[in-house]
Amino acid sequence: MQVLLTVDLEPDCPPYLHTFRGMETGAALLLQLLADEGVPATFFTTGEVARRFPAVLTRLVAAGHELGGHGDTHRDFTRLTVAEATAEIAVSSQSLRRFAPVTAFRAPYLKFPERYLPLLVAHGYQIDASQAKYKLAYYRSSAPAPLKRIAASVTSSVLRLPDALRRPWLARLASPVVLFVHPWEFVDLRNEQLRLDCRFNTGPPALAALQTVIRWFKQQGAGFCTISQGS
Ligand SMILES: [Zn+2]
Repeated sequence: MQVLLTVDLEPDCPPYLHTFRGMETGAALLLQLLADEGVPATFFTTGEVARRFPAVLTRLVAAGHELGGHGDTHRDFTRLTVAEATAEIAVSSQSLRRFAPVTAFRAPYLKFPERYLPLLVAHGYQIDASQAKYKLAYYRSSAPAPLKRIAASVTSSVLRLPDALRRPWLARLASPVVLFVHPWEFVDLRNEQLRLDCRFNTGPPALAALQTVIRWFKQQGAGFCTISQGS
């Protein structure tokens, strides 16, 4: 059993908020937890975040985590023209590659038109992590992809469910298990006017939940690795 823990570094709960509280306070809490647990992760990061929070990127790269692309300004690629999509990938890649090699990509909202996959190849990407096994589009994709695709196993809010609900859910997932979280989940958004799945159990409960999930997978004998190391 292999677990690929991934993190999307972006504004808070897009498209509802435009603040960066997750980057300001949540990211450091998450990095400390990963260090305490000794597990690597892949950080899909927007170009905007890379330009605004270079110290966080320097720290995560130094800690041995992998850096991946997440668009430049967290726009929905299904609404972009080919010129806009190309610019989002080109500009973000330039900002991110100042910190580390970047060969994996995840589209914002886990929505990436298949016709744009060649743009990733043209910009030096080898892995697309934009698909999700809990979305219908994953089962509709048919054409052979020009690069490796690794789909998310479960949506992030599931990890914040009470353990009795979450455990049977996680137990059903096939290897490689691709989990994802966001730094804003580790900021207390419980009293914000937000969609329920964005706010419930955020803050300290989310951090505790992630630790429980990591330890549960360790007990199952799972190994953790970054997306490029995954099989
Ligand atoms: Zn995102």
